[in-house]
Amino acid sequence: MILPGATIGMIGGGQLGRMFVIAAKYLGYRVIVLEPGPDSPAGQVADEQIVAEYDDATALAIFAERCDVITTEFENIPAHVLESLSATCPVRPSAQALGKTQDRIVEKDFIRECGLLPVPYGAIRTRSDVATAIDAIEFPAILKTARFGYDGKGQITVNTPDEVVEAYHAHNSADCVLEQRIDLACEVSVVLARNERGETQCFPVSENLHRDGILYQSIVPARVDESIAKAAQTAAKHIANQLDYVGVLAVEFFVTKQDALLVNEIAPRTHNSGHFTIDACVTSQFEQQVRTVCNLPFGDTRLLSPVVMTNLLGDLWGDSQPDWQHVFNSPATKLHLYGKASARAGRKMGHYCTLADSVEAAQAEANTIFTALSE
Ligand code: ATP
Ligand code: MG
Repeated sequence: MILPGATIGMIGGGQLGRMFVIAAKYLGYRVIVLEPGPDSPAGQVADEQIVAEYDDATALAIFAERCDVITTEFENIPAHVLESLSATCPVRPSAQALGKTQDRIVEKDFIRECGLLPVPYGAIRTRSDVATAIDAIEFPAILKTARFGYDGKGQITVNTPDEVVEAYHAHNSADCVLEQRIDLACEVSVVLARNERGETQCFPVSENLHRDGILYQSIVPARVDESIAKAAQTAAKHIANQLDYVGVLAVEFFVTKQDALLVNEIAPRTHNSGHFTIDACVTSQFEQQVRTVCNLPFGDTRLLSPVVMTNLLGDLWGDSQPDWQHVFNSPATKLHLYGKASARAGRKMGHYCTLADSVEAAQAEANTIFTALSE
């Protein structure tokens, strides 16, 4: 066990890193953040930030030397970086686990190997793969770049074979997946932790509403059949086991109008749809990450209240920040801001969690606040 007082390294300085640091500080750990952007959301609250590129060999050596364990908040860390760090210091999750989630083609092949259903897709690595990919799906479809997509970036809707070719060129012939557009009943996700002994523990299933490809709200408990919620948790555990994963992991699912459960994506980290755990569960996903990477026992993941989490995107910022009175006037709404210096459209600036006796009441209150903030 790595006990309080020890130093945890966090690769990445964004909001997931920030909320991790806050959880680690509650427990009495020291945290060093490695992140190229100075004064990062995570760096602001950490004991220290090493300002360096993720592949700066000198900085990595110093970082590994000074940490007792290293963890991450995003998936696009080059495998060689984690491998070199792990020669000096335990790194959780491992480079191999991250490797399965950095490329949508590798990820979807892996989901299939797990015996689970990905969204129907065709892989495009070269121009000659386009025809076979089109045969694998039905239109309408989405052409997504295989690497570095987030918040719906790198996605083009296509309705005909010609549009696929056009979109492929628009993606500069980068590796892509052609994904069938699913008629969704809803979207759900599971955040779970898996420890070194191979034990897993899930958080309650979240129902996720997206706007323009970006998460808008998470609703917990999810309004789906118990059988679907259970199947999602079982599938997520199976994925974590197959990855031999250590740390916190999230799996996003699509529920089709025919009640089929399709795996959309795997995120080898804490997840936006798990932010509700901070205010509504005995243990947050961030504390669970601290506990898991430090080899402590899991914390209880019990939900204490129905909750709705609402994201605050940069679109709400004009020349000044939104009028937070609308949030503060709601006594069971908790505001979280990430300390980002500048707001841009689509940028995640913060979120708030609204607790109530039912998800319907929580959502009504959350939406009233959101409308007021938007005015
Ligand atoms: P993030 O990493 O933030 O989840 P991303 O860029 O990887 O984003 P996806 O999860 O691929 O994005 O897509 C974002 C959202 O767009 C999905 O949650 C869903 O609402 C919608 N979407 C994506 N693919 C499909 C699809 N094949 N059919 C229907 N809706 C889709
Ligand atoms: Mg996604």
